Amino acid sequence: MALVGIIGAGIGGIATAVQLARYGIESVIFERDRIGGLIRNAYSVENTMFFPDGIKGEKVVEILEEYVRKYDLKILYEEVRAVKKAGGLFEVETAGGVHRFKYLVVATGTRPRRLPFDGITYHVAEVPERHYGRVLIIGGGDVAFDYALTMSERSDEVIILMRSEPKALPYLQELVKKRSNIRTLMGQVREIRPINGKQKLLARTSAGNFEVELVLGAIGRVPNIELVQGIEDDNLFLVGDVKNGIYRQTALAIADGIKTAMVIWRRERYGDTE
Ligand SMILES: Cc1cc2nc3c(=O)[nH]c(=O)nc-3n(C[C@H](O)[C@H](O)[C@H](O)COP(=O)(O)OP(=O)(O)OC[C@H]3O[C@@H](n4cnc5c(N)ncnc54)[C@H](O)[C@@H]3O)c2cc1C
Repeated sequence: MALVGIIGAGIGGIATAVQLARYGIESVIFERDRIGGLIRNAYSVENTMFFPDGIKGEKVVEILEEYVRKYDLKILYEEVRAVKKAGGLFEVETAGGVHRFKYLVVATGTRPRRLPFDGITYHVAEVPERHYGRVLIIGGGDVAFDYALTMSERSDEVIILMRSEPKALPYLQELVKKRSNIRTLMGQVREIRPINGKQKLLARTSAGNFEVELVLGAIGRVPNIELVQGIEDDNLFLVGDVKNGIYRQTALAIADGIKTAMVIWRRERYGDTE
């Protein structure tokens, strides 16, 4: 049995496992999808202090995959359905069975807040690779503006529709302003429905009606915390976006992961409860 179970193979979960491996502590990561988590969607990551010219989210994922290989991290591609504490251990339930650990790290990240309409995509990494005519992006934060930069390279026209003044980083707003095929509009969505006989959607909004080929939703995110809600335990650690509220940044997820591994190691080595 590995000492530590980690739920989520995003950057936070992988940073935890790498640092644990450096201490010689074995862990098992559970991942329901692919390595890398949310960062795969990023147009350019520039604030980690190592890539002043920015690095594509997809490239970050390739680096994470290299870490997984280098440290021979154990990843089980299974969704965790339930967690409980029994007999002094955490019991992690997946379709493959029940796995027991002394320490549990929850690095499950967030999921998108959804709009009440069908046909909306929430992750730009899930958009099929092809050229698009007009794309509508709903939201006014960093993610909406980041998605607009990605899609402006793959579309004739991108519209960002937001309810109020943009909340995105001024830096991202400047980049968006420089793209001649992106326009920003203030307004709210009233309806999104498929147009009969066309591979298109009609977006009815308070700023006008638009025929679009793709609608991306970026109106905020909700933490995936349900699995451990109500469990309070010194050996349970939350890492990354799942606990960072609006401060959802890779550097913070990495820091959480590394610190968690250090705390676990000190507990094992010195019985430290700090
Ligand atoms: C468009 C965009 C641009 C961004 N740009 C930047 C940037 O420039 N700089 C920056 O620092 N940050 C940026 N971020 C934020 C950054 O992506 C996140 O802070 C970071 O990826 C969080 O990592 P995490 O490991 O905490 O969570 P995540 O990356 O969300 O990983 C969580 C993982 O847990 C898995 N999981 C969840 N529940 C279960 C379960 N029950 N069982 C098994 N697996 C489960 C998920 O599949 C996922 O792989 C950006 C985000 C977006 C969307």
